[in-house]
Amino acid sequence: MILQWEMDHPIDPSVCAMMQAAADLALWAEQVTVPCTVHVRLCDDEAIREVNRDCRGVDRATDVLSFPLAAYPAGRTAGSCARALRENYDDETGACMLGDILISVPHLYAQAEEYGHSPAREATYLLVHGLCHLMGYDHMEEDEKRVMRAMEERIMNGIGMSRGEDARPVSDEALLALARAAMERSYSPYSHWPVGAALLCADGRVFQGCNIENASFGLTNCAERTAVFKAVSEGATEFTAIAIASRQTPPWPCGACRQVLNEFAPNLRVLVTWDGRSDEKPLSELLPCGFGPKELETGTRSV
Ligand SMILES: [Zn+2]
Repeated sequence: MILQWEMDHPIDPSVCAMMQAAADLALWAEQVTVPCTVHVRLCDDEAIREVNRDCRGVDRATDVLSFPLAAYPAGRTAGSCARALRENYDDETGACMLGDILISVPHLYAQAEEYGHSPAREATYLLVHGLCHLMGYDHMEEDEKRVMRAMEERIMNGIGMSRGEDARPVSDEALLALARAAMERSYSPYSHWPVGAALLCADGRVFQGCNIENASFGLTNCAERTAVFKAVSEGATEFTAIAIASRQTPPWPCGACRQVLNEFAPNLRVLVTWDGRSDEKPLSELLPCGFGPKELETGTRSV
């Protein structure tokens, strides 16, 4: 999913990375197959109060507001309404506009403290709540509320952020979906060979990456290394699995990426997906007799 950000209030950028992953998983969980866009405005209490007053006649600040564009038939949601989505197709982005979401940053920080969880979790939950509304879910009636909560939990679970007691780690299925979504953001105008990656950290965070090409060709960066560099620069260095997606052939990592992955996680699980198929191998099999920090430590390198 393409998130169009409007930052009226500053927020930790790594929070936005989690929100992007959640948005990608929302489309996956809802089984929406057309590309979609959502406008996300992060603002302060005064701004959200103004919109709440002008658009809903409620003169007070709140945490999140959402304004769906699509008109879904009664009892239906985005996954089964491709036609309703296509009515808001935008040529410029090549995607269907789902609508607008406003989130008050001061509100979300206060709520995170009150509930005793991270601002990233609260921000992600508020976005997921707004996205569910944009996809046709609601919580006015008890039965529709149950359905909406289940969808919210499915998405939050997908990125390892469920607050329920049955919180599960990110599933392989979700990690593969995140890699496929990252592939859509590939910058590959020369090879036309888009690749996406989703790196799962030991602490449950997921970092996505895509291949980024350059007119000089040699400066191209692979999707796997984009994900690793994002993770390390955000303080994560322990990884348990990486999913890699491409269109036509199994995207096993190149030699350079195998070496970079081996630096941090010699026992990493490497999952690949292409053309509706998937496969898995341990990194130790992809890089046998690899050279890494351990070899330097033990001083067993022969000269
Ligand atoms: Zn590579």
